[in-house]
Amino acid sequence: MYTAPFEYRRADTVDQAVKWLQDDPDNSKILAGGHSLLPLMKLVLAQPPVLIDIGRIQALKGVRSEGDHLEIGSYTTYQELVKSPEVDAFCPLLALSAKTVGDVQVRNRGTIGGSLCHADPQADMPAAMLALDATLVIEGPQGTRTEPYDGFLMAPFITNLGAGDILTGLRIPKLPQGAHCVYLKRPHPASGYPLVGLAIWMTFEGQRIGNCHVGVSGIADLPFRARHLEDFLKGRVLDDKTIKEAGPLAGDEASWEKDEYKENLLKVYVMRALSQLGELAAAKGQNAKS
Ligand SMILES: Cc1cc2nc3c(=O)[nH]c(=O)nc-3n(C[C@H](O)[C@H](O)[C@H](O)COP(=O)(O)OP(=O)(O)OC[C@H]3O[C@@H](n4cnc5c(N)ncnc54)[C@H](O)[C@@H]3O)c2cc1C
Repeated sequence: MYTAPFEYRRADTVDQAVKWLQDDPDNSKILAGGHSLLPLMKLVLAQPPVLIDIGRIQALKGVRSEGDHLEIGSYTTYQELVKSPEVDAFCPLLALSAKTVGDVQVRNRGTIGGSLCHADPQADMPAAMLALDATLVIEGPQGTRTEPYDGFLMAPFITNLGAGDILTGLRIPKLPQGAHCVYLKRPHPASGYPLVGLAIWMTFEGQRIGNCHVGVSGIADLPFRARHLEDFLKGRVLDDKTIKEAGPLAGDEASWEKDEYKENLLKVYVMRALSQLGELAAAKGQNAKS
């Protein structure tokens, strides 16, 4: 399959990319790793007349530790997240999620910014973004602004990026010391995208759960934060009774057309994820089950 003809421009700086985008926002698209955009163009589901390649802009690449958070360039690939010592030290949940995306070719080319801007509700990374309270850094006609990732997705494949806006980076708060993380995914047998993707981090205070954040992707119309489940878990011992009672709670905030399969899938994956967290905690002597 061939794409419709398009003009290719390679930006050397963020300012140049923003200017080109602003010059003709209706006809221009940012090209990052191309692993979502190019398949759409080859299927002629997208026909942008102008592609602005941001792949040579050094300022958009890499992971930096800055005080209490990580700064991640939007053009950082999944594989760079998996290999990053900063991610490993301060936000391992990111690497756990990134390493489940597609295959090695997809992880070498696909970028975190491309994934978030493409806004596929079945992508993996949104669950971790929600659990980690990610903030987006956006460069646009009015200058630089930041906004929480929670709320960035308006509808499937639609974000609140304005005309001329480019996502330049992410700010991810470092996890508290001793936090345990799990990313658990049920891949679709054909596509490998998550039927459900659960990103959870949890701390313990003595034998009880301290803080806990849960992001869910894949199963509903949009990814969501399971706050009822989080509230239920805080202060409890993570034993079999808690895990059983917690299972059905993650669906409370899902916007979805419920069916028995989805409800069961989510419940079972919540229970499995919590069991894994219980084992991680037990290995450190933090869980009453140990
Ligand atoms: C075979 C295959 C398997 C895959 N499996 C999975 C999977 O298991 N899980 C999963 O989550 N994903 C999967 N993907 C999707 C993959 O993660 C994509 O790489 C990702 O969705 C898009 O990132 P990209 O860098 O390739 O973006 P591109 O395709 O270049 O861009 C995607 C969209 O975002 C816009 N955009 C990109 N960067 C910016 C920016 N900085 N600012 C503003 N707009 C921007 C583009 O204009 C475009 O509209 C798979 C893809 C393939 C081809």
